[in-house]
Amino acid sequence: MPALPRKPCAFARCGRLTEPGQRHCQLHKRERQVRQDKERGTAANRGYGYKWQKARVGFLKHHPLCCRCEQAGLVVAAAVVDHIKPHRGDMVLFWDRANWQSLCTACHNTKTAKEDGGFGRRLT
Ligand SMILES: [Zn+2]
Ligand SMILES: [Zn+2]
Repeated sequence: MPALPRKPCAFARCGRLTEPGQRHCQLHKRERQVRQDKERGTAANRGYGYKWQKARVGFLKHHPLCCRCEQAGLVVAAAVVDHIKPHRGDMVLFWDRANWQSLCTACHNTKTAKEDGGFGRRLT
């Protein structure tokens, strides 16, 4: 059996040698696989696709300010379109514009931290 050359891992700055015929070392091969699985599982399944990108840009154009900060009397540019009620994969809820609000990154982080924090109680 002719020995295939062992090339260095294609991942930048890795430097480990690959198994014959592979482009990445064992570690980075796995890492890439995991990342691809994640992307496939989230972006597509949850509806965060091109359609959502377009919709959220349009929504932010009409609602450019963070609504939570606005309530507190602050003028802060919104960065994300948030689902008031977490959609949890529910496509009807996901695309319901009445369920959308503009938030700045800080407010969005606070909100999602509360929702994912497992306090068993959600706002709204
Ligand atoms: Zn590597
Ligand atoms: Zn805010």
